[in-house]
Amino acid sequence: MAQFPGGVFDDGLPDGRAAASLVPGPEAVEARLDSGAVFVIGYDSLRMEFGGATGRMLFLRGAEPRLTLFSEAPGLLEAIAAAGGPASAGAVAGARAGQAQTRKTHLRNWGIALAVLVALWFTVPPIFRVMVDGAVQQLPLSVDVKLGELASSEMAGLGPAITDEAVAGFATEIVERLRPGLPPEIQALDLKVTVIESTQVNAFALPGGRMAVLSGLLKKADGVDMVAGVMAHELMHVRHRHGMRHIVRAAGVITALTVLAGDATGLLGIAAEGAALAALTSYSREMEAEADLDGVRLAAAAGFDPAGMPAFFRKLSEIAPDSQAPEALSWMSSHPRHDERIAALEAAIPGLVRAESTPMKHTLEAARAALKGD
Ligand SMILES: [Zn+2]
Repeated sequence: MAQFPGGVFDDGLPDGRAAASLVPGPEAVEARLDSGAVFVIGYDSLRMEFGGATGRMLFLRGAEPRLTLFSEAPGLLEAIAAAGGPASAGAVAGARAGQAQTRKTHLRNWGIALAVLVALWFTVPPIFRVMVDGAVQQLPLSVDVKLGELASSEMAGLGPAITDEAVAGFATEIVERLRPGLPPEIQALDLKVTVIESTQVNAFALPGGRMAVLSGLLKKADGVDMVAGVMAHELMHVRHRHGMRHIVRAAGVITALTVLAGDATGLLGIAAEGAALAALTSYSREMEAEADLDGVRLAAAAGFDPAGMPAFFRKLSEIAPDSQAPEALSWMSSHPRHDERIAALEAAIPGLVRAESTPMKHTLEAARAALKGD
């Protein structure tokens, strides 16, 4: 039976919501949770409507007012129509009528946005930037996740993933210590970090939270605080959705307009066309400064020494000559203006409160011992 990734809102769940697989059956839609719990809405009481920021999220409600199922997976409505036949026909027709109405609303928003932007585009570009950033904030984080997925194969192509617990566990433990300092919706993302075998001294995060640390970074870092500083910086690119904002700005006015109208499909197409990884991990100076300052704050709040980040910038300046990294992928080249950044960080650090912390279960020393050729 076809399954569609989605979720459940229900007051009885610990966070009020949970991820679930939606399974349309002959008489009802079932939502199956990883915990084994199953929520069911029968076709006799089913009502459906499209909504969410993109207008593509299908919400399913039944007789029980506190229960809502939802999914953005394409084909779910068709699967419900096929599985339920006449039993689900009424609910399916209701969703399609509402969808046509939503499209009209989107089209109208698009027209208004176009008129406003044509008026502003050549005269006040900064206003456009603010509007686009505002529109990005309206898009669900699932769009960031989709953007990140477009680059995940490129990420995997950088080298073999190191699964050794001493290495992978070290990187994961740092993320887990940093995680509580992030807003809840960012904490809820799949903040999985992969250590990739490579001579490059590099780390990056994709929109949606997947992160990579190249093993050259672990070999060259002088201590856990340097690694944590870099990872906190990368997490802040995720938290502030810099990859998405950058690509929206770079994608041009028409694509950005569709984003303003709540439609991210054009954006996904642009990212898929070329080198998505480079496009999604190159940021403006303002974004880097934001990730630096919020990153040291995050590192300090997790008990790491915030001085690790500027110390790492100094270190990078020293080792830059032997870096064999291709331009677009080196943390060094994508993070220029070291002197300025070190100065800004060192000015901010005395004002930070470093939380107390317990010793790490995984150490940098053990991780390095497990790396090949070290
Ligand atoms: Zn950065």
